[in-house]
Amino acid sequence: MIEIRQVSKNYGSHQVLKDVSLTVDKGEVVVIIGPSGSGKSTLLRSINGLEQIQAGTITVDGVSVHAARENLYQIRQYTGMVFQQFNLFHHKTVLENVTMGPIHVQKRTRAEAEAAAGMLLAKVGLPDKADFYPSQLSGGQQQRVAIARSLAMRPKVMLFDEPTSALDPELIKEVLDVMQSLAQEGMTMLVVTHEMGFAREVADRVIFMDDGRIVEAAAAGDFFTSPRQERTRQFLAKIL
Ligand code: ADP
Ligand code: MG
Repeated sequence: MIEIRQVSKNYGSHQVLKDVSLTVDKGEVVVIIGPSGSGKSTLLRSINGLEQIQAGTITVDGVSVHAARENLYQIRQYTGMVFQQFNLFHHKTVLENVTMGPIHVQKRTRAEAEAAAGMLLAKVGLPDKADFYPSQLSGGQQQRVAIARSLAMRPKVMLFDEPTSALDPELIKEVLDVMQSLAQEGMTMLVVTHEMGFAREVADRVIFMDDGRIVEAAAAGDFFTSPRQERTRQFLAKIL
């Protein structure tokens, strides 16, 4: 579903992705961990074309992200992205936030979009918040609306960039639970997170990035019990 081949990216003379290769199969959940500044966000942003790359190729469901402008519109429609900051439209209601993309970008009817939004809001545990404004919701609720809004576009892939890092501790679980059920339904997911419990329980594979490179990639079980690289062991020792 996602194929990243020998990708390099730099900002000026600073190389932030160094020959990164990674494939994510349909239905697979891959978690990326690594220290701040290691290139995790840049990699995710490159997958849906928010960043240009200087070398290599990225394809999503067979479509090359950086080859042509038309490809980008296509890929952004079926690649959902959820950020640390929820990025909701604050002057629009929850329902409007969730139906905007389907109505204005995908040209689906309002009735159909609203029916789908109702189901998605129920799925993320917010069936009664359709007419609320984001400011009336907690951070965890806003992030769940952001997930519903992404799902409303019927994505084939979901990219999550530290979706719980801005949340108070007691609100983290409600967001992780939504992500876990999405994973169980078979969504293809690439998730940058510091939540090691989620990585252990939900991820099929865990990737450790450091200084723009993939240092280690392993099945989630092996990754935590028997990391092969010294740098991975040092990182895990700091955070576990
Ligand atoms: P992570 O998400 O792992 O913390 P990032 O992908 O955000 O790392 O950043 C990787 C490196 O790229 C960092 O050194 C960061 O300072 C640099 N960087 C990120 N965005 C920009 C930018 N727009 N301009 C210049 N440097 C950037
Ligand atoms: Mg980041």
